[in-house]
Amino acid sequence: MVQNIVATCLEGKSLERSEAYRLASARADELEALLGAASKLRDRSKGNTVTFSPKIFVPLTNLCRDFCGYCTFRKAPGEPGAKTMSLDEVLRIAGRGKLVGCTEVLMSLGDKPEAIYPEMKSFLTRSGYKRTLDYLFDACKAVLEETGLLPHSNPGLMGRRDLRRLKQVNASLGLMLESMSGRLLLPSGPHFNAPDKKPLLRLKTIEEAGKLRVPFTTGILIGIGESWEERVDALFAIRETHLRYGHIQEVIVQNFRAKPEIPMRNHPEPTLEELVKTIALARLILGGEMNIQAPPNLTPESYPMLLQAGINDWGGVSPLTPDYINPEAPWPALAALKQKSAEAGFTLKARLPIYPEYISRSEEFVAPSVIPHLERLCGEDGLVKNGGPLAMIPAERVNRAREVHGATRQLQPEAPDSSAASR
Ligand code: SF4
Repeated sequence: MVQNIVATCLEGKSLERSEAYRLASARADELEALLGAASKLRDRSKGNTVTFSPKIFVPLTNLCRDFCGYCTFRKAPGEPGAKTMSLDEVLRIAGRGKLVGCTEVLMSLGDKPEAIYPEMKSFLTRSGYKRTLDYLFDACKAVLEETGLLPHSNPGLMGRRDLRRLKQVNASLGLMLESMSGRLLLPSGPHFNAPDKKPLLRLKTIEEAGKLRVPFTTGILIGIGESWEERVDALFAIRETHLRYGHIQEVIVQNFRAKPEIPMRNHPEPTLEELVKTIALARLILGGEMNIQAPPNLTPESYPMLLQAGINDWGGVSPLTPDYINPEAPWPALAALKQKSAEAGFTLKARLPIYPEYISRSEEFVAPSVIPHLERLCGEDGLVKNGGPLAMIPAERVNRAREVHGATRQLQPEAPDSSAASR
């Protein structure tokens, strides 16, 4: 019975896979019990703080050798919007982000475009590189050294050598596991023409990162054709990897969105009930200590439900650049995110692209070349020193956002953080 399973989970017992399968069928009262347990587990470890990372989104290249059925990001050379950024462009946008208090530069890009596009190959050769990952290394190095902001790269599959090298110029790295379903690679599946989406290859990258002590972000994409069992299996694969290496700093639960320009335009989106149930399952499977994230721009009307399901992080939110992966879904204004979090009983705080629990073990998890930059941006609590862009929001703007939403309580101006630089 669901109520019994969640009760033993709250007593500290680790959730079994068969129990998680059972929880996946929870409805009505059972679902309430599941969400309530997930909330409690989160509260015990994370309290009433919800975090986000103030970031600049840099789409280094949107060329990609994969063809995922749900992707609007990828372009082919010559297609409108196809773009590989120059280092000058990267530095220009990162510099603008610094002015508005961003601390993370998210480098997002297609996987190995040079493998199928001669145009990318010749761009790389002209610029003195063999592979896109080599170009990414230099872009991260330039950002780190010239702006002092912290890169977090999400470039697709990475081998051991790439992970070791990228760790020298990134605060953390990421790769969505997405799914453990091999079925999705079959003809007419969303990963049919996506060689880099083989689950075991993705798990291998995540494991190699663990061996190299790289703080790592991963997650699942729900609603692309996987079954509930496969969804649970993906969360268990993440849990097992984390138990072995202890390096998974956050797990994203991302919901599929149908868009007119994608092959999966007629595929049904997961319901809100499915999304919150998956988040709650992730919380129970991964435990109270794990940072669990759902992007606020993909479910804009349901923040309280996402919080109730057990998230403690909104992910990267940019005050400047759009979400290039979901360009139709704007990020909330920080004042509104702060206000909506407060209405649900949570204090919004800005974090760095590496979580406090890994910053406190920086000798192990952060390259010496990154540490001075990290120390400059980090407060004593391991979050962004002085509140980052949150401190730049005038209290009136938050209060105005509250009035628009019919709230009556007034927020106090942000107290300055007196934290010291070193960490
Ligand atoms: S989702 Fe990523 S890997 Fe798949 S096509 Fe888009 S950019 Fe390429």
